[in-house]
Amino acid sequence: MNGQPHFKRLALIGFGLIGGSIARAAKTQGLVAEVVTTARSEKTRARVKELGIVDAVVETNVEAVKGADLVILCIPVGACGPVAAEVAAHLEPGAIISDVGSVKGAIVRDMAPHLPTNIHFVPAHPVAGTEHSGPDSGFAELFINRWCILTPPEGTKAGATDKLRAFWAAMGAKVEVMTPDHHDLVLAITSHLPHLIAYTIVGTADELAQVTSSEVIKFSAGGFRDFTRIAASDPVMWRDVFLNNREAVLEMLGRFSEDLTALQRAIRWGEGDKLQDLFTRTRAIRRGIIDAKQA
Ligand code: NAP
Repeated sequence: MNGQPHFKRLALIGFGLIGGSIARAAKTQGLVAEVVTTARSEKTRARVKELGIVDAVVETNVEAVKGADLVILCIPVGACGPVAAEVAAHLEPGAIISDVGSVKGAIVRDMAPHLPTNIHFVPAHPVAGTEHSGPDSGFAELFINRWCILTPPEGTKAGATDKLRAFWAAMGAKVEVMTPDHHDLVLAITSHLPHLIAYTIVGTADELAQVTSSEVIKFSAGGFRDFTRIAASDPVMWRDVFLNNREAVLEMLGRFSEDLTALQRAIRWGEGDKLQDLFTRTRAIRRGIIDAKQA
C-alpha cells in the first residue's frame, strides 16, 4: 500500500500467541500507525507493557476500541460474544471488527447480533499456531506462508473484506474467503479431529496400568511424542472449539470411528493389503503437504 499504514489505530483485545503475533507483525511491517491493546488480567497487561511492542496498553476493552479503525478479538471463541456486546456501542463508525477464533459459525452467531450497522464485521481465522500461549509466545513470522480464512457474513461490504485481506496478506498470509459453515466443516477434519485424537491417545497412555509413565516418556520417539505436542495445546481454547463446532466435529468423528473399525478388522483378519493400501495413500498426502510448503 505505497508504504502507507493500512489502518490508523489497531485495537487488539487479548494478547496471547495470536494477538501477540499480530502486534509484532503489524509493527514490524509498519501496517498500522498505532497499536493499542488490552488483556483480561492485570498480569498480562503488565507483561505487555514490559515487552514494549505496542504503543499503548489500556485497562478495559471499551477504552481499547475507542478511535480504532480495526478491532481484532484475540481471545477464546466462547468469550467473543460477551466482549462484542460490551464494546459494540463504543466502536468507531466505519471500523472493521474481526476475530481470530478457530470456529467461525459460532463467532458469527454470537457476535453479529450485538454489532451496529455502521461498522463492518469480517471474522478471520489464521490457520497458524504453536502449542504455546501467553504474551511471550507470539512472533512476527507466525503467519508467513500460512492460510488465513475470512468468513464475512452475508451483507458484509466487499471493500471491508478486501481491506482485511490486504492486512493479512501484508503479514505474510495467504488469504481465502469462504462461508462460516464451510470453514467449520473443513477445519473439523484438518484441525479439530486431529486435536481430539491427540488428546485421547495421550490420555489413554496416561491411564495405562501395565506401562509406566517413565517408559511412555523414554520411548516417546516411537510416535507418541508428535501427539504430545498437539495435546499440549491450550485447554480453554480447545474446550471452546469443541463446544462451538459440535455438529461438524461429531460428523467427522463418526466417519473416523467407522474407518478405525475397518482398520481394526483388517488387523484382526491379517488383511495386510488393506493396511498397505491405506498407508500408501496417506504417505502421498504427507508428500502433498510438504510440496505445498505447509509442513
Ligand atoms: P492465548 O495465548 O491463551 O491468549 C488468550 C488471550 O485471551 C489472553 O490475552 C487472555 O487474557 C485472553 N482471555 C482468555 N480468556 C478470556 C476471557 N474469558 N475474556 C477475555 N479475554 C480472555 O490464546 P491464543 O492461542 O492466542 O488464542 C486466541 C484465539 O486464537 C482463540 O480464539 C483461538 O481459537 C484462536 N487461534 C489459536 C491458534 C493457536 O494455535 N493457538 C491458532 C489459530 C487461532 P489473560 O492473559 O489476561 O488471561
